[in-house]
Amino acid sequence: SIPLSFFSGIGFASKNGILIKGSNYLEALRNVDTVVFDKTGTLTKGVFDVTKINAIGISEEELLEYAAFAEANSNHPIAKSILSYYNKELDLNKIESYEEVAAHGIKIKYNNDLILAGNEKLMRSENIFYSPAKEVGTVVYIAVNKIYRGYIVISDQVKEDSANAISKLKSIGIKQVVMLTGDNDKVASSVANELGIDKVYANLLPNEKVDKLEEIYKGRTEKEKVIFVGDGINDAPVLARADVGIAMGGLGSDAAIEAADVVLMTDEPSKISKAIEIASKTNKIVW
Ligand code: ADP
Ligand code: MG
Repeated sequence: SIPLSFFSGIGFASKNGILIKGSNYLEALRNVDTVVFDKTGTLTKGVFDVTKINAIGISEEELLEYAAFAEANSNHPIAKSILSYYNKELDLNKIESYEEVAAHGIKIKYNNDLILAGNEKLMRSENIFYSPAKEVGTVVYIAVNKIYRGYIVISDQVKEDSANAISKLKSIGIKQVVMLTGDNDKVASSVANELGIDKVYANLLPNEKVDKLEEIYKGRTEKEKVIFVGDGINDAPVLARADVGIAMGGLGSDAAIEAADVVLMTDEPSKISKAIEIASKTNKIVW
């Protein structure tokens, strides 16, 4: 192979679809011992299929329509999946107000009805009497005028590349692989077990992701650097706090790409070990 002294590590990385925003990050990459991943859109595809509809006191069709109106103005992968499953025209003029509550869900007024669509946190904060779904999946609970009307289960898939990415990291000597997610425990632990992730924290709000990262930083030396890998608007604060923030450049949000130090053009988590390897080789030849 071509010695890396011929071109900078940054140039070589970019030929591999890894955009590094400064040579100081090569230095940090050489000293990484912990890699922290977001789940949705980072280790999973972020493309959901509706796998179950459980309507209570109304028809499945009606439940789906309420959910579709609620999600009509959201860019979240959950919203896109519900809208593509619903697959009908929506008269958005009937939406009187719209509020997206980060890591909770959606609150709208539509046709004089108050519709809530989101997770258990949203149901609890709005004092809705609901019963938790038994299925493993990301669950969108729906309440209309404060009355619980059922749930829609949607399921995401792990990226083909993710298992390989985690085992690669371990084989190059990364001590700890962690996953942080706003999604529920059941989904989080099933993904973590499948991929061989050491530690997992679920049900996190965006600011709680930053708190977890701070916890990980406690008791570390300057020589033990931490990578955070994410894709969403919500991930921007954690990307900024990490020694090396790495964003998905393909389907990732603009906010994540901007906040990151490194951007992966192909959204493949296996590029993380590649970036570390390139940084280490650059070191041997240049320094
Ligand atoms: P992650 O940390 O896995 O990338 P997010 O922080 O984007 O996930 O969202 C966390 C959780 O908040 C989701 O799993 C979902 O339960 C809920 N949520 C967020 N946005 C929406 C939405 N538009 N509709 C319904 N639920 C949502
Ligand atoms: Mg995400």
